[in-house]
Amino acid sequence: MRKHLIFIALVIVVSFASCNIKKPEKKLAQKKSPNIILMIGDGMGLSELSSTFYYGEGESNFLRFDEIGFINTSSADSKITDSAAGATSLASDTKTYNGAIGLDADSISTPTLVEVLSKINYNTALLATSSITHATPAAFYAHVKNRNMQNEIAEQMVNSDIDFFAAGGLKFFQNRQDGKNLMAALSDKGFVVNDTLNQNYNMDKKYAFLLADDGMPAILKGRGDFLPEYTQHAIDYLTASDKPFFMMVEGSQIDWGGHDMNADYLISEMLDFDKTVGVALDFAEKDGNTLLVVLGDHETGGFTLGADNGNYNKIKPVFSTTSHSATLIPVFAYGPGADNFKGIYQNSEIFNKIMMMAK
Ligand code: MG
Ligand code: ZN
Repeated sequence: MRKHLIFIALVIVVSFASCNIKKPEKKLAQKKSPNIILMIGDGMGLSELSSTFYYGEGESNFLRFDEIGFINTSSADSKITDSAAGATSLASDTKTYNGAIGLDADSISTPTLVEVLSKINYNTALLATSSITHATPAAFYAHVKNRNMQNEIAEQMVNSDIDFFAAGGLKFFQNRQDGKNLMAALSDKGFVVNDTLNQNYNMDKKYAFLLADDGMPAILKGRGDFLPEYTQHAIDYLTASDKPFFMMVEGSQIDWGGHDMNADYLISEMLDFDKTVGVALDFAEKDGNTLLVVLGDHETGGFTLGADNGNYNKIKPVFSTTSHSATLIPVFAYGPGADNFKGIYQNSEIFNKIMMMAK
């Protein structure tokens, strides 16, 4: 008798469970536009990326991608791009001259992913380990003739559509030579500035984290888990809203290690970026409606993982230049529309591949 009752109870539970299984169909029909996370390793070519396989503690997060392509990163005026033209070509639908931020080759302002996506109801976030006014993040919200115009870029950030940002760059917002107090201006525009972090984000507010005077400290100088942690905070803030979001996360200092021809600097920044890719990928896998694209803007240092004195079982990182190089750059994609990122194409095609999915 008792066995009988348990059997009936089981049948009821199982039939309820199968009722529940049908629910997602309705949800699928009303699916919102996908979230988009674009991650840029500044200076990240194939050898930089490969270092995560030889120097990382766990498995490289790049192993988790199936959809892989390559971009040509040449700028409008040079075979080898700088980070301003490189980022402008990722943030907008155009190639431009080295040094340009958010302008095309004729110096005409070009709409950025942040601007276009904000207009179709996306919330937006930017994170970098440089200052927020540095070339790569700047190309997503600013329009100036030269990347060195960081005071102007800071003013354009105040008036931008960005909802959350975390990076260095305090000196471009306070104690400026022109006397402008952009910290107050940020508050006036609805930003909570340098809040203590908690999970109770006010969605009527925007959040600004300016955590260093200029660039953030290097990993080797104690930056810790800033990038993976604030990437998680940004995801927590953005997912507290019903709106879809766009987020750009830059590992800015892989490039700086390359310019310095400092393998320890480069590899430690690369491993930090890999860890941050893991945070974004964990979210994208759980969410199921997030397109994650990870790429470099160009390679720096002509970096290779050579054999140490002919010993094929010992790697010696080698640099061939203190500048950027022209090598093709890998692109990794996950989520809705990821297969569009396969093949070999121009960096300026990334914008449209992303926008195809955002509509
Ligand atoms: Mg950069
Ligand atoms: Zn560089």
